[in-house]
Amino acid sequence: MEEDLFVDYIIKIRNNKMITAKHYLDSLNKISKVMVEIGYEFDSIYDIDSFSQLLQLKDDLKNNVAFKKLDEKGHRMYSAGLNRYIEFSEGKLLDESDNLLTLLDEPCPVRPKSFRSETESERRDRIIVNQVLQAAHYQCEIDSDHKTFKSKTNHHSYMEAHHLIPLNMQKEVSNSLDVYSNLICLCPTCHMLLHHGMKEDKSKIIENLFDERKYRMQDAGLRFGKHEFNELIEESGVY
Ligand SMILES: [Zn+2]
Ligand SMILES: [Zn+2]
Repeated sequence: MEEDLFVDYIIKIRNNKMITAKHYLDSLNKISKVMVEIGYEFDSIYDIDSFSQLLQLKDDLKNNVAFKKLDEKGHRMYSAGLNRYIEFSEGKLLDESDNLLTLLDEPCPVRPKSFRSETESERRDRIIVNQVLQAAHYQCEIDSDHKTFKSKTNHHSYMEAHHLIPLNMQKEVSNSLDVYSNLICLCPTCHMLLHHGMKEDKSKIIENLFDERKYRMQDAGLRFGKHEFNELIEESGVY
């Protein structure tokens, strides 16, 4: 997750001041250093893509005597920063009103390193997926009446996140495609339709989703006309 997005979350969603965000960033920078010391393979907390790994980090720090001492000496500023970052990663408050997540649409650099989620369960465990599903109130964005079942992980309706422009097209685009504006919350049936359905059954749906998202995508530096978008979709192998 990008550091800038966390700062925007603190300021635009939580309505805190920049100075507060700075305190959190200082805490998270320190935590990143501790992570390296205790043997994490990441350089920074922002490189963690998986939500369960983030919770694991919280546990590891809780059991680390040196960190506990440091945190107590710092009036718990380090654990406070971490807890805020976990709330951000859960998507807390992003469902308070509609379209809040659009406040965080911005161009993000391509980070090949952070996208290693290969299995189905890893893809579901991602921080960005939590945030997108929470902001969409766990409703299918093709039809909010689509019903699923309760997820054992979060006790919400089971939904999946879909990249409107598939990530295999990243080489054609200079800003990251792995961003909020390119992710859609879908029920599993709609999701599988977009991947495995017939072109005539899904091309209109895909175009409609693009029409709904194109301005948000522009804010994220993903500027495409409809023709260009359709070319990317064709080339990605979706049809
Ligand atoms: Zn998908
Ligand atoms: Zn659906």
